Amino acid sequence: MKKYKIFRCKKCLTPSTRPRVTFNKKKICNACQNHKILINFDWKKRFQELKKIAKKINKETVGKKYNCIVPTGGGKDSSYVAWHVKNTLNLRPLCVFCEPSLFTKQGRQNLINFKKSGFKLDILKTNNYFRDYDIKCFKRAGLPQQAWLQAIVIYPIKVALKHNIKYVFGGEEAESSYGGSNKNFLKKFVKLSENKKFLLEGQEIENYYTKKQLKKFKNIYFTKKELKKANSIYKLFWSSFEFWDERKHFKIAREKCGLRYSKKRDTNAINKHSHTDQRLYALHMFLAYLKFGFSRATTDTSIAIRLGYMDRKKGLKIVKKYDHIFPKEYLSYYLKYFKMDKEEFVNILKSFVNKKLFKNNDIFNLKFKNKFV
Ligand SMILES: [Zn+2]
Repeated sequence: MKKYKIFRCKKCLTPSTRPRVTFNKKKICNACQNHKILINFDWKKRFQELKKIAKKINKETVGKKYNCIVPTGGGKDSSYVAWHVKNTLNLRPLCVFCEPSLFTKQGRQNLINFKKSGFKLDILKTNNYFRDYDIKCFKRAGLPQQAWLQAIVIYPIKVALKHNIKYVFGGEEAESSYGGSNKNFLKKFVKLSENKKFLLEGQEIENYYTKKQLKKFKNIYFTKKELKKANSIYKLFWSSFEFWDERKHFKIAREKCGLRYSKKRDTNAINKHSHTDQRLYALHMFLAYLKFGFSRATTDTSIAIRLGYMDRKKGLKIVKKYDHIFPKEYLSYYLKYFKMDKEEFVNILKSFVNKKLFKNNDIFNLKFKNKFV
């Protein structure tokens, strides 16, 4: 059998197994290559261009109550974007929130605080149909929060279409920043049709339900006709107009939008401030560990290394300590949500263990076949 070669980026810790990542000859990942471009980029000029775009939007939409959409969850990044869209660009945003399943109390409180700070929200609540879809995708594809992932891509555009709004302001263009597809790197306007496949993790909801059943999923699913219309909407990623710095975001979100963090962190997280509003994300990332050999510690330390907050050696130590951890504090939530006992749940997880990467099948104590540094 051919040896399965895995390696990490020489600068950060992004692994070669990450979907859509690319490396140069020196084994440096595209996230690090992009970062080098971003730190030398003329952001001042770019931001002026954004201001011009905002002016044009305001001119086109005189008399309209809202003139752009900002998808938000009350977290640090989306709050930061919403606040600047409203107060720096002087636009009139309608914020869109898609409730994740197993939403935390902390997340709910932050959402209330955000709303109170002066934003109008359109909320898509989760429901039992979405749960059914999550159960199916978890079993078949190892994707435990597919309904929500689909919602955050599709629902804001649905709301834009409903209100005849042409612009959606996103936060980070995460693919090129973390080492995924590079096609939208520093692009000013992005269209959905160009990215639908990877945004939806390659899942087609049509393969899971009949035409009649699909009506229950109209908020997280486009018909062909709607998809055509959706192409008249432009997405603008904030990270393509201003250098993306999460520390700066937290300050604004806390001071202006009432963001608070819990005192506890998830056991597989290395900080208390990412994805604190939901419990399924920890499972989603544990599945990434089973499938690709990396989890949250890898992505978070890689960001810190690129920003110069941590060196690679320390990052690798943290990765070894945290990346393999199953978030057992949420196990009872997961079993209830997926309507299964522990044995069935563990067997599903086991079925996604990448046999090319790991030499055993014990999901709580997996051993890599090759050295992974
Ligand atoms: Zn890298």
